[in-house]
Amino acid sequence: MLDKTRQDWTALATGLEIEGRAFINGRYVEAMSGETRPTLSPGNGKHLADVANCGIEDADHAVRIARGAFESGAWADMAPADRKMVLVRWAELIEDHADEIALLESLDVGKPISDTTGVDVPSAVRTIRWSGEAIDKVYDEIPPTPADTLALVQRLPLGVVAAIVPWNFPLSTTAWKLAPSLATGNSVILKPASNTPLSALRIAGLASEAGLPDGVLQVLPGPGGSLGKHLALHEDIDGLTFTGSTEIGKQLMQYSGQSNLKRTFLELGGKSPNIVFADADLKKAAAMAAVAVFYNGGQTCTAGTRLIVENSVRERFIDMVIAKSRAWMPGDPLDPATAMGPMIDVAQLKTVADYVGIGEEEGASLMFGGAQVMQETGGCYFEPTIFDGVNNDMRIAREEIFGPVLSVIGFKDAAEAVAIANDSIYGLAGAVWSNDINTAHKVAKAVRVGTMGINNYFGGDITVPFGGFKQSGNGRDKSMHAFDDYTELKTTWIEFD
Ligand code: NAP
Repeated sequence: MLDKTRQDWTALATGLEIEGRAFINGRYVEAMSGETRPTLSPGNGKHLADVANCGIEDADHAVRIARGAFESGAWADMAPADRKMVLVRWAELIEDHADEIALLESLDVGKPISDTTGVDVPSAVRTIRWSGEAIDKVYDEIPPTPADTLALVQRLPLGVVAAIVPWNFPLSTTAWKLAPSLATGNSVILKPASNTPLSALRIAGLASEAGLPDGVLQVLPGPGGSLGKHLALHEDIDGLTFTGSTEIGKQLMQYSGQSNLKRTFLELGGKSPNIVFADADLKKAAAMAAVAVFYNGGQTCTAGTRLIVENSVRERFIDMVIAKSRAWMPGDPLDPATAMGPMIDVAQLKTVADYVGIGEEEGASLMFGGAQVMQETGGCYFEPTIFDGVNNDMRIAREEIFGPVLSVIGFKDAAEAVAIANDSIYGLAGAVWSNDINTAHKVAKAVRVGTMGINNYFGGDITVPFGGFKQSGNGRDKSMHAFDDYTELKTTWIEFD
């Protein structure tokens, strides 16, 4: 793992065998059209692999296979304790191939190797293992009905589920979707983001090796606008789980309504507030303010992009955050010392640069960064960037930039901090920093988001639910609550003679 040097990882990358075919009915197959699409490495712009470009005919085939597998009962009717063993074995196989999968993810997404080895792969392993281990501990209900009756309330799988995931955390979001949907007995079709299909394709083969029956899991790489839309409109898909932008999430809700009202659960964007009071541990808060926005190059749905700071300490605190930001200058994803890698692609790089221009035009003060760097690598690198003098009406405070751009907004008291925090269409995450338990707790309660940290940022693990209020989505990934998204409740009512 991290005992490897940049040279070691680069050498391993040269010899890496990359699977780019779709995974249907337990085996790797070409797209029916034979079409492929290249996937590039954002770290250097070089060609990584040709990946099957699946279309509507592949989707229809995959749905038929998934439906057949579901109705066969080979997985859905397997004893939960046996499904558990398959998922636990799958997690072990991913762990056995941890270096290879971490490397694939770093190459495909541009994530620093220290993140993929230290966060993405272990988190996927834990998610799959935990969901597997949990599933034979979930009991159904016998409600308190009249004495001459007996009612059973059972949790049953939805049937065929489509999962559509984004490029910013491909492996983690894949695990968040697959672990609970498979644990509850569904058959699943996963569509990875076009930019980042490789880790999902790799772990699908390991699922079969672990004993997942053929046809229970399909992975179809292909374009969202055609393949993804077709899945979302499909009449024979019972559930749709999505992580991605709010814009596409809104379309998916409509596709569900236009077709068969498939159960649709969405994890969407954010513009998360990170609120710092003057009485906080400012040193710790400053270090974490930089982590909150620059981790994964700011390409994180929960990124703390609005730093809302009490006016009395704002200038001093910005200096402290700038000092911490120097450690986030981007670097080669395969260098274990790199904290921040590139943007995912040229289009995202342009979006980030455009927002820096918008911030300047809106009258915010550029305090740090603001430029593309490392052009000579062929990669899409952008400096950590900080704007002060932002007000919450500016576009850089309202819109999800999805890059390493921090907007600092001042406040005078707790009521104003909460008002600014809640003045957003989003409600995914946030944090408050204060050493006064009353202030911290009251503010944490008042901010309308799915996850709120007190004196930490990015807190949480598989045991707690994750998801958004408002236009950040519905439903929840992770924890036992994730099982709710993939099951129907069925009542059986019995009357005795
Ligand atoms: P995106 O553009 O919404 O794409 C997400 C997925 O949807 C991709 O697989 C994409 O396929 C597919 N897609 C695109 N158009 C579609 C359509 N019309 N019908 C069906 N599927 C379609 O999002 P992204 O740019 O990949 O990811 C960034 C976004 O994800 C950000 O907004 C971020 O906040 C959000 N996110 C949220 C969470 C969370 O848990 N709340 C976590 C991570 C990311 P293609 O790749 O082929 O376009």
